Amino acid sequence: MRARVDRDACISCGLCESICPDVFELDDENISVVKVDPIPAEAEACAKEAEEECPTNAIHVE
Ligand code: SF4
Repeated sequence: MRARVDRDACISCGLCESICPDVFELDDENISVVKVDPIPAEAEACAKEAEEECPTNAIHVE
């Protein structure tokens, strides 16, 4: 499983980092970036939750 973030859609709310800090963090521009590729099995559930909860649907997990 892999995650990607649409940088143009991210509004820097920080929710993904709060929900799943093992996968997402905000970079120097306060845009979410994916820290791990592929996503470790133990972090897949929270990565999917972050995808569902992102207010702008900027996260894509597949
Ligand atoms: S939840 Fe979505 S909008 Fe908020 S920081 Fe993460 S990717 Fe950006």
